[in-house]
Amino acid sequence: MEISTEGSVRGMFTCETCDLSTPFTYYGQKPPNTRAIVLLEESYVLKDPFSPNRDKFIVLGAKCTLCSMVVCIGTDCSLFYTKRFCLRCVRENLDQFPQQIQAELAKKKVPQHT
Ligand SMILES: [Zn+2]
Ligand SMILES: [Zn+2]
Repeated sequence: MEISTEGSVRGMFTCETCDLSTPFTYYGQKPPNTRAIVLLEESYVLKDPFSPNRDKFIVLGAKCTLCSMVVCIGTDCSLFYTKRFCLRCVRENLDQFPQQIQAELAKKKVPQHT
């Protein structure tokens, strides 16, 4: 898979929860070549290699606000509620989150840390 210099790979993004590992092309809040897009958080971003549209990018993940663990945006790994939280921190501070989130989390399986 060839990625143009414009979206050159900065390094590898690895989710510390599910071990998802993929190259990323940008880390921050404003991906290059995107107009008027400002992300809500500092994110690991990959320019969409499958899209001819240079504005296209994929948000891979971000750092947990509390523990700084790098997590992907998968719903089994992290949660965005005004800021990014890994699910472990969400569970540890569950009473700080609204009922709706508590209920959603109650439905999820507990992540296994091996
Ligand atoms: Zn993950
Ligand atoms: Zn955390």
